[in-house]
Amino acid sequence: MGSIDRNDEIRQALADHMRLNNLRNTPERNALFDAVLSTEGSFTAESIMELLAQSHRFMICRATVYNGLGLMEEAGVVRKVCLNGVCRYEKCWKNRYSIRLVCSNCSSISDVTDDKVRRQIEDMRKKRFAMTGWSLTVYGLCSKCAAALRRRQKKLNKTDIRKK
Ligand SMILES: [Zn+2]
Repeated sequence: MGSIDRNDEIRQALADHMRLNNLRNTPERNALFDAVLSTEGSFTAESIMELLAQSHRFMICRATVYNGLGLMEEAGVVRKVCLNGVCRYEKCWKNRYSIRLVCSNCSSISDVTDDKVRRQIEDMRKKRFAMTGWSLTVYGLCSKCAAALRRRQKKLNKTDIRKK
């Protein structure tokens, strides 16, 4: 599925969510939604605010941005990962079948698919519960951070030897 089709689906899900919850469409909200949809990969509330300031030449207050991102989260079209005091967001589609790998050091997020895990979760017995989607978070170190850690440990080992 191309990213344009996906954005259409996200727009539709957002519109449905707004209607169901009697939420108003405001120019600020629409500008925020457009900015999020045009972003690839993960982003922070601050980076979206910067993008909005550049493209619209008007400032959207922090509260409106957080409020709008919360609304998108409720609609299931963005997801949030907070680590070490930094929250990052990314687009998603209803959190269906998502396994995300989160780096505990730099908070980067990547997705993997695994049919075996997917089948196991879908076949799992769920008492009095109708599943509409799922997401699984695996924590660890991304290749960049793991390499940096290895370099640091090598350096430490060398200074240890010199001391002896
Ligand atoms: Zn990392």
